[in-house]
This record gives sequence, structure tokens and C-alpha cells, in this order.
Amino acid sequence: MIEKMTPASALTHPAVELERDYLLQNYSRYPLVIHRGRGPYVYDTAGRRYLDFISGIGVNALGHAHPRIVGVIRQQAALLIHCSNLYYHEYQGPLAQRLARISGLERVFFANSGTEAMEGALKMIRAHGRKSGAEKHEIVSLENSFHGRTLGALSVTGQAKYRADFEPLLPGVRIIPANDPAALEQAVSERTAGIVLEWIQGEGGVYGLPAGYARKARELADRYDALLVMDEIQCGIGRPGVYFAYQMEEPPPQPDITVAAKPLACGLPLGAIMCNAKAAAAIGPGQHGTTFGGGALTCRVALEFLDILDELLPAIRRVGLYFQQELMELARKSAIVKELRAFGLMIGLELNEPGKQYVLDAMAQGLLINCTHENVLRFLPPYIITEREVDAAVKVLGKLLRK
Ligand SMILES: *Cc1c(COP(=O)(O)O)cnc(C)c1O
Repeated sequence: MIEKMTPASALTHPAVELERDYLLQNYSRYPLVIHRGRGPYVYDTAGRRYLDFISGIGVNALGHAHPRIVGVIRQQAALLIHCSNLYYHEYQGPLAQRLARISGLERVFFANSGTEAMEGALKMIRAHGRKSGAEKHEIVSLENSFHGRTLGALSVTGQAKYRADFEPLLPGVRIIPANDPAALEQAVSERTAGIVLEWIQGEGGVYGLPAGYARKARELADRYDALLVMDEIQCGIGRPGVYFAYQMEEPPPQPDITVAAKPLACGLPLGAIMCNAKAAAAIGPGQHGTTFGGGALTCRVALEFLDILDELLPAIRRVGLYFQQELMELARKSAIVKELRAFGLMIGLELNEPGKQYVLDAMAQGLLINCTHENVLRFLPPYIITEREVDAAVKVLGKLLRK
């Protein structure tokens, strides 16, 4: 058994004591104070190195301190960080074009986070429905999903633990079982203004939707003039080895709206709504907006990232598959592993017991991962990892899971 160990930095660091005294007590953090990062590694305040296989919950897509990202941040920070949406700057237009191309959609709105992008998508659904009358306001979403923590996004989130203390939420939301096309058929009607799908449920334990499900949703959205929204905040922008997770389906179902965020600006806050002309027509001048969203610095960083990502996609698929095979091998020798679910570099390893202690034990061995849905070890490594980093991570996991 691995010795339980708490890195010394977290016990003694004054910042931790100040958090204890002054911060809203809504997070339960792991005992680690991170000081800096480089590539796939972070270093704590004592200089101890950790292999980062969670990358800020799928945000630090190019790892830490990527030279090209650092370069454009330096350059752009000295030119223009923000000018608000009162004016144009040079990077929103090109980034919107880029996102339209990779998503096959037509127009883009920039927000500051995943939740905020989802919130905008929900407003588009509402405004779209309203054109046909006030009773067309229902939204269908799935059990076990996660769409964010604002009251709107929470209303379509299908997990009681996030919702319970804040009810009543938005009226007209119908949350249905995720693997049941018949339930979908039953829930969607003339009153439905939108269907919201999280293509791979990340917070819910890394579950993909069954084959053909999105096509069914597309069909129903068309039949009842509802907008089909894909939440690709965690699973999109390259993580599965394609730009968007729903593009793994053949033929890919085309949503009316795709929402992205986490990796989009490599750690700077940026969310995006991509939509077709039909969805775009729901929102006119003055109907939606943001002060910070789509700033010059964040947009330029996202453009730089997408340049790099183009060439990285085959490596994400290759290394993701290698990681998957290594974990499968490990799972065969372990009585603790229940199931492996892998989509490129988005991987969940479901255990027969709670995962939290394994996360702490991995951390003590220099590997950062996390646990979601109580018993699913989740891996969201940066896209730049190679087989070498996978070997190092699997070695640690092997020690922990082969008991
Ligand atoms: C993280 C996440 C969100 C919320 O994004 P924030 O940037 O935390 O606001 C919404 N949907 C999914 C699928 C997510 O993984």
C-alpha cells in the first residue's frame, strides 16, 4: 500500500491559511499549492514536480508555458488586452471564421466561460421558440449531464446534487434518461424550443451517447422546429482527436448550436457559441452581450492555439489510443477497475470503489488526475503528451490499482 502523504507545501503555505480565513468555502481542494508549470508538468511551491493529467479540467490544452502561447500573450498584452464590444479589434473576426470552418456552422458569439456560453445558447433557444408563441419554450436535456452553474445552465443540468439547493429553476425543462431514444421521442413536442446534449458527459463520469442518438435528436428537432444544441465545452476543440466529439459519428449529426470553452484559449477565459443561420436569427441587436467576452488577448491566443491544434489532431488520436490500450492492459490485471471509457484524450476509468483516495495517492506519486461521479478516475491530459508521459502515468496507476 502506498503511504498516504500530504505535500509539505500545502500544510505550511500562508496562502492556504488566508484561503481558509477569507475565501467562500465552496471548494474542497487537494493539498497542493502549484507555483508554476512547464509542458505537461507543474511544480509546487517546494519545487516538487507533478505530471499533469487533468490540465486544469481540460483547459491547459497545450500544457503549461507553451512557447508560442507565451509569445503571443507577451506581444498582445503590450498592444491591447481589451477594448470591449463597443469597438472592433483585429482578432474576433478571424477567430469566428476559424470556428465556423471547423464546426461547419456560420456565426459565433464569444463569452467568458462555458456556463456563460451555455446561458447564451439557452437564450437563443427561448428567443427562437418565442417567435412561434409563448407556449413554445420547453427545453429537453439529459439525466447525468452537466451544463454549468448559473440558474439557466443549472436548469438543464441533469444531476440533483448540483440543483437541489437552488430550486425552483427554469420552468419548462424536461430532463430525460440519456440512453433512451424512445424517451426523447416522447419528450419532444410542438412546445419544444430546444434540445441540449452533452455529447460525452464529462462531470457525469465520461459517458458517450449511444450511436444514432444524435441523429434521432436531429430528426426530432427538425420535425418540431426546435434548436439542437451540443455542449462541447469539455469534450470539444480537439480533445477526442477530432474538433468536436459529435464529429466521431458517421455521418456527423449537424447541430444548430455548438457551445465550446475549456481548452479554447489555453487557460485564458473564453467561451464560444457557434450557430447556423436559423439559430443566429433568434438574436438581434441589443438582445445579448458581454463586457469581457471576446477580448483581443483571449481571441488572439485562441487563434494561435487553433493553428497549433490543426497539426496536433493525429497525435491526440495516436497517444489517446495508446493510453487506452495501456489502461485496458492494467484493467485486466486489476480487480478494482470496473470499466474503461475512452475518447481520444478524454478518458474515464470507473472503479468498484470511491476514487478520491486513489487521486490523493497518485498525487503523492507525482501524478495529477481527478475523480468525477464518485468512482470514475478522469484523465484530461494536455494534447502535447507523448507515449513517454503515458508510460509514466500508467506506471503510477499500475502501482495503485494492482492490489
Ligand atoms: C465545465 C463545463 C461547463 C461549465 O463551464 P465553465 O467554464 O466552468 O463555466 C459546462 N458544460 C460542460 C460539459 C462542462 O464540462
